[in-house]
Amino acid sequence: MCDKEVAKILFDNCKIDECRKAVKFFTDDLCQTKRQTLDIIDNVPKGWSGLYKMVRTFMRESKSVFKGFAFEDEIDALIDNGYMNALKGNLHSAEESNRFLMERIFLSILVENTTRDYEEILRSRLWHKMVDSGYTILHFGEVVGRLKKATGGKPPLNEETIYIIGRPVCRKHLEYPQFSKHIEDLPIQERLKCRCGKEADYMTLAMPKVSALIGIGCYILGYPSERFENIYSNISRIIHPYGLVRMEKNRAVLLWFRDYFMIVSELKKAIQLKGNKEREKVEEKERGDEKTKSKKKKGKSNPKKRNRKR
Ligand SMILES: [Zn+2]
Repeated sequence: MCDKEVAKILFDNCKIDECRKAVKFFTDDLCQTKRQTLDIIDNVPKGWSGLYKMVRTFMRESKSVFKGFAFEDEIDALIDNGYMNALKGNLHSAEESNRFLMERIFLSILVENTTRDYEEILRSRLWHKMVDSGYTILHFGEVVGRLKKATGGKPPLNEETIYIIGRPVCRKHLEYPQFSKHIEDLPIQERLKCRCGKEADYMTLAMPKVSALIGIGCYILGYPSERFENIYSNISRIIHPYGLVRMEKNRAVLLWFRDYFMIVSELKKAIQLKGNKEREKVEEKERGDEKTKSKKKKGKSNPKKRNRKR
């Protein structure tokens, strides 16, 4: 669900009823209900003369969320493309931009928190080649299962542990040594087999399909994945079989913007949550350091006591 405070600010800024209706529409009643786009596609309000300006202002401000993202440039272009297509009434293309946007967001999270090798794989167009050769993660369930089996727990995904959810290969079938790690260098307890049946010697990075990618991103952020999955499947439903190609411009903008607004809202919350958790960890560590420091100080200033102990 979206951010009630942000929705309220937009709502309160409205001077006319048409604006209030539009804000209620794209915020799902000021973030109080949950609706599928297809259920409301016939009830899109008409908009008003200030609609485009409000959308553009939100777009401009929301782009700061993506500052520093690995795929910031692409994300920027996708937001603009979505808006431009919606402006022309091309809802289908506009929503496609939203879908690509979500994929780029989660790819950014993956790349930044695990290994830049993924970026290289993408930019050098190896991604699809590796997918075709079977270096894939199809579902997030696979990720959890593998992590648990390998380590007995739920370790954070990072530069090292990302290989645990890769593909096991033997020496003979090692195709991508530059994107592989030796199993002995990884915290893997179980015995894994190569596709040929021999014991595996290496783990090669695997490419997550989009549902696994969203799951991995949310695992990294420590945020429930259902909300993003919902938005994604919602968008896919519009793009896929219904073929809603043309639409009245105002309405197309509102429909596209509704999904964009939801994506940004969830992402902001997820990033904030992760920031809070990290701050807590740092503070906890600092408190711990303080304790050991004061203990040490005590020890030094009181040598007799220490001697007695010995
Ligand atoms: Zn093999």
